[in-house]
Amino acid sequence: MARTPAIFFGHGSPIITLTRNPYTDAWKSIGHSLTKPKAIVCVSAHWYVSNTAVLVNTNPETIHDFGGFQKELFDIQYPAPGDPELARRVQKLLAPVPVELSTRWGFDHGTWTVLRHVFPQADVPIVQLSIDAHLPAPFHYDLGQRLAPLREENVMIIGSGNIVHNLMQYHRNQPDFGPFDWAKRFDSRVRSLLMEGDHKMLANYASLGPDALLAVPTPDHYLPLLYVLGAHAKQDKVDFPIGGIDGGSMSMLTVKLS
Ligand code: ZN
Repeated sequence: MARTPAIFFGHGSPIITLTRNPYTDAWKSIGHSLTKPKAIVCVSAHWYVSNTAVLVNTNPETIHDFGGFQKELFDIQYPAPGDPELARRVQKLLAPVPVELSTRWGFDHGTWTVLRHVFPQADVPIVQLSIDAHLPAPFHYDLGQRLAPLREENVMIIGSGNIVHNLMQYHRNQPDFGPFDWAKRFDSRVRSLLMEGDHKMLANYASLGPDALLAVPTPDHYLPLLYVLGAHAKQDKVDFPIGGIDGGSMSMLTVKLS
């Protein structure tokens, strides 16, 4: 069987999921282009906690982990099943890093705002993996490497975040607000490094200079990319099914390894 792709999605503002737009169109067509995987391991920017944990629920709830948005968003459910067996396998693969089997979370909006377009039938089991906020960036890349064997078993590794994510500078209701120069520069630097396969530099993104400080003011939305890159195979090609900068300071770049 062919290796299952590993994909990083730029999820952006939750409201993006509500309408038909270039991002939701791209997510849908990615879904159409894929052979449906057996299961998904998803690392979302929004489960950013003090340890590494996997969701072990059989039927995880849909979490609406945001405030100040319209009711329509809070009504969305994404009833994909969990996969406790896969959660335990992830725990084993990441050993000796301690991994908590957790029932204290569900599918947060990093996961469902995107996957409801990619797999609208919600029929692919999902295991969410948390991001340990105390670990240095290269360590997250290492954890991704340990997940790579799952791609040989028809399990898709997904990261959901944003390569450029600066909410202080974000023009929330102005998607056409022109991108800041630093946002464009960082986004295109990351694209180049991805094409060159320079994962070392990408894992040490803080050394990319002042643009990195503005693009990645906190690591949470960048780190899911490192899990996907860690899970790469030598033969993978890199595609960018959709990109663009939303509201001036939010890169919507999606990175597909296959
Ligand atoms: Zn987010």
